[in-house]
Amino acid sequence: MPMPMPAPIADADYCRRLPKVELHAHLSGSVTPAVLQQIWADLPDHERVSLQPPLEALADPTGAQGINTFFAHFNTYIYRLLSTPESLARATRAVLIGFAEDGVVYLELRTTPRALPNASPDTGVRVVLDVIDEWNRTEKMVVRLILSVDQAKHGPKEAEAIVDLALNLRGEGKPVVGLDLCGDPAARGDITALRPAFTRARQASLPCVLHFAEIPAASSVAELNELLDWKPRRLGHAIHVPPEVVERIERENVGVEMCLSCNVLAGMLPDTETSRGIADHHFGEWWGRSVPISLGTDDIGVFGSISSEEHAHAARHFGLERPDLLELGRRAMAGALDETQRPRMEQLFREFAANEGVECPWP
Ligand SMILES: [Zn+2]
Repeated sequence: MPMPMPAPIADADYCRRLPKVELHAHLSGSVTPAVLQQIWADLPDHERVSLQPPLEALADPTGAQGINTFFAHFNTYIYRLLSTPESLARATRAVLIGFAEDGVVYLELRTTPRALPNASPDTGVRVVLDVIDEWNRTEKMVVRLILSVDQAKHGPKEAEAIVDLALNLRGEGKPVVGLDLCGDPAARGDITALRPAFTRARQASLPCVLHFAEIPAASSVAELNELLDWKPRRLGHAIHVPPEVVERIERENVGVEMCLSCNVLAGMLPDTETSRGIADHHFGEWWGRSVPISLGTDDIGVFGSISSEEHAHAARHFGLERPDLLELGRRAMAGALDETQRPRMEQLFREFAANEGVECPWP
């Protein structure tokens, strides 16, 4: 009797060729130290001397100081370096090129609006959107932007202003597709204060995505139910979710964005002392449910893992075979905020499946 064929493994090469859907990437955190180094090297002499070289300043993300200290340092550093329209545009373009070269075909990038020095509050976002507009005119990867409200830094007034900005930009035809809740959940005040801004966005058909259950202290049933009452389309991380809230998420078909390397390297998973790393990630639990689900890199500049590597990690640690990764792509697109892109994506997946001789979840 002939031996059965071994199951086709979704290896790193396959994951690189695979069309990928990236829904959880922060713009500034996605700028790599190498790109920052190039930008720094091109600064005028008098500006360069006041900033340590990025490859020195950002040398050791997982070192003695710990990733969270590093993260704060990264953010301070990057905002100082990317303080002109030129440097911000250059960094944005480099981020897009990085995702496209890795085979991402649909990207939802997110950014917290901030004013560049001596300019109006929307300048930074407009610079980013100009780069995205130009990109979308010529390149295969489709890019959309989500504006973030930082729960540790923004109160109701700032959140309302970000909603206004998002709606205005969308009204101008810019590719702004959603509103995000981000920032340090340990450093925030009463979360219900932000509810009106998120409700208004939703009523104006601007869907929201929320960082969710990132730390145990921000994961009570009451608090998570409050966030779910905002009717988010997707939840970022979704780590410390009690069973009754898991059920609600599934019942309401809210998508989840899984960030494997980020959660492991930042020590966000429970029982990290005894952790087996990615094998213990809650991706496995959500994958076994019916919700939209995607893999996100979060911050490639910090965690150093690109989308194809995240897909290869998921395949290796959770036994995903080649057709499973197409199913993952299908479930990722089910959570994408720009629904008009779905037919195009389905076509890309079909072509890929035909080329690879893999069964496609779309007929
Ligand atoms: Zn995030």
